[in-house]
Formats: sequence, C-alpha cells, structure tokens
Amino acid sequence: MKQFVDELKKMISGEIPVSQQKKLEVISVAVTVVHLVLVAIFAYLDVWVLIFYNILTVIYYVYAFRQVSENKILKGYVLFFFEIVFQSILMTLVIGVECGFSNYLFAIIPVFFYINSTYDKDGTRIWQPLLSTLIAALVFIATAIIDGVFKPVFELTTRRVHFLLIFNSVLSMFLLAAMSLFFILENRDSLKVLTVKNKDLGQQASEDPLTGLSNRRSMELVLEAAMARARERGVIFSLVMGDIDNFKKINDTYGHDCGDEALTAVAEIFRTSVRDGDHVCRWGGEEFLILISGNNEMAVAAAERIRKRIEANVVTYQGVDVRFTMTFGVTTYVPGFSLETLITQADDNLYTGKKTGKNKVVSTER
Ligand code: GH3
Ligand code: MG
Ligand code: MG
Repeated sequence: MKQFVDELKKMISGEIPVSQQKKLEVISVAVTVVHLVLVAIFAYLDVWVLIFYNILTVIYYVYAFRQVSENKILKGYVLFFFEIVFQSILMTLVIGVECGFSNYLFAIIPVFFYINSTYDKDGTRIWQPLLSTLIAALVFIATAIIDGVFKPVFELTTRRVHFLLIFNSVLSMFLLAAMSLFFILENRDSLKVLTVKNKDLGQQASEDPLTGLSNRRSMELVLEAAMARARERGVIFSLVMGDIDNFKKINDTYGHDCGDEALTAVAEIFRTSVRDGDHVCRWGGEEFLILISGNNEMAVAAAERIRKRIEANVVTYQGVDVRFTMTFGVTTYVPGFSLETLITQADDNLYTGKKTGKNKVVSTER
C-alpha cells in the first residue's frame, strides 16, 4: 500500500510518467473503498440486500484490480463498466433512482476514451467510446423508466435519499476530477518527452558528434549573421582556417581511433583558446574554422596562439606519444566581399602555408 501511494506521489510530482495501468489501479482501489463505505452505510440503513451486494462488489473490484495489475486493461474496463450498469439498475429497483447511483454512468464516460486511446494510437477510431457512451445513456434512461414502472423495494426517507444522492454525486465528481488530473499529468509527461527529443534533434542538427563543436551547417548561419553585421554596422570580423598537418599519416600509423583522439584534442584546444564572441567549428574532416570578432592582427595572434599549443600538445594513444602540428590561413572581412570569397582567401592562405613548409600561420597582407 505504501509503495502504491509513493508511486502515485512520484507520478503527480512528475518523477515517473503516468501509466495507463496505474491509473486504472488507482480507480479500482478508490471504487473498492467506496463499496466498503457503502457496506457500512447500508448496514446503518438496514437494507440487507445491498449490504450483501456491496460485499460481493468489494470482492469483484479486488479481482478487477488484479486484472488491471496484470495489464489486462480491456478486461478491467469491461468489469468496471458492467458493474456500474448493473448497479444503476439494481439500485433503482431496490431503493429508487433518486438515490443517484446512476450518476456513475456520467463519471465513466472519460474512462471509455482513455482506454480506447491505449489501443488506438492515432486516435481516429472513436466509435467504441461513442458506442459505450450511447449504452451508458440508454441505461440512464432505462433507470428512469424502471423507476416509473416499479416501486422500489425499500422506501427510504427523503433525508436518506438526499444523503445518498449527494454522496454519489460528489463521488462521481471526484472520479471525473481524478480522470482530468490524470489527463493533464499525461499531457505534461508527453510534452516533457517531446521537449527532450526536440532538443536532441536540434543538437544533432547543429553539432559535430565527435568533437561537440558546431558543425559546418550551423557555422554557416553564424557566418551569415556576421556578414550582415559587417555590412550594416561595419562590425569587423576575421576567419581562421586550420588544417592538421600530415593527418593521413597519423591515421595510417596509429589507426583511425588515434586520429579521432587527435581531432578531439584539437577541438578542446580551439575551444579554450578563443574569446567570448568568437565561434569555433569543425568545418570538415580535419579542418577547423574560427570566426574571430576582431581585425587581422587579432586573428593572426589567435591562430599563432593555437598553433603553438597544438605543437606543444601530446596525445597519448595506447602508451605512444603522438605529436602533430597545424597550418592556418587567416583572412579579414573587406566591405563588398562575399562570404565565399573570404573563405576562399582563408583556404588559399592555408594552401600557401602547406606548400611552404606547414606548421605556420599565413595571412593576407592588409
Ligand atoms: P596535409 O598536411 O596536406 O593536410 O596532409 P593530410 O594528410 O592532413 O591531408 P589529407 O587531406 O591528405 O588527409 C586528411 C585525412 O583526414 C584523410 C581522412 O581519412 C582523415 N579524416 C577525415 N575525417 C576524419 C575523422 O573524422 N577521423 C579520422 N581519424 N580521420 C579523418
Ligand atoms: Mg591535413
Ligand atoms: Mg584537409
């Protein structure tokens, strides 16, 4: 019982998601308790047939609870529905319709829709809950007709009838409130799942999985924005294109995994070598691009800082120290130039560096 209550608390606080099974378990426990209370009430009112009936119902709902616990949801539901229909008619015959036992027919309507949604994931088959609603409505009308035709077996005083009417109406209200609560909790749960998925997807779309740096796609957006700022407000920026020297040899000598570790190490050095407002990305295989918010001098200084750190860095792979260097091409925004032109310039400078000995920074003279 304590575990049951704890689980329920966790569901409400959102620690664990609401399950269809748990929901029906809660309802069957509540209904069992209600029938126990009814045993006491009818003992007080001295209606022996209903004492007997409610004792049977308690056993019946314990059975329904076990069915639901074993995940036989549909069976559990049929048991609930059948009992509520049967009870409405029986109560009408024994103590009259005014006692309000047919009010539970209202409260069970949302249950139809919930159960159906478990089996109908796209939610297009609504005829089953509508049919169940129609049956509930017909039974409700039938109780009124039965009441008109047959005199109740036990004539209760008006005060007692009122008491039962209020008891049943209030409980129906609470049953509806419980279903509504479950509904909003489930909504919250699915929203949470969607938010996490959306965030993951967004990250996957903009992040390089190996290094965690921005990928080319998201860098292009950053570059477009920098171009717009430069055109409209004259905010200057520079590009640093870096490429690992003889990287193919690292892969060939130590294996692809070692190459990957080198890339991760480079990413970390890049990330920790730039200022706020600068932007680092993995532009392609072993090429990295930095947007520096500053002039050529600042970009060359940044590239030189990174070049030295890479040169001094050691990647230890399976006990072997692996060292490597990087060559950099730098360029700075010139009014009227397109983004493509700037990137080509950085690339050309990088190529010049490769041709003239590698492990250096080459910049367009400005
Ligand atoms: P250079 O000094 O002229 O740049 O020579 P390089 O060997 O670095 O250049 P090249 O373009 O010939 O080789 C780049 C290599 O980078 C080839 C490719 O297999 C490797 N590479 C690209 N992406 C990855 C990756 O994600 N992981 C690993 N391990 N290797 C990669
Ligand atoms: Mg290379
Ligand atoms: Mg390359």
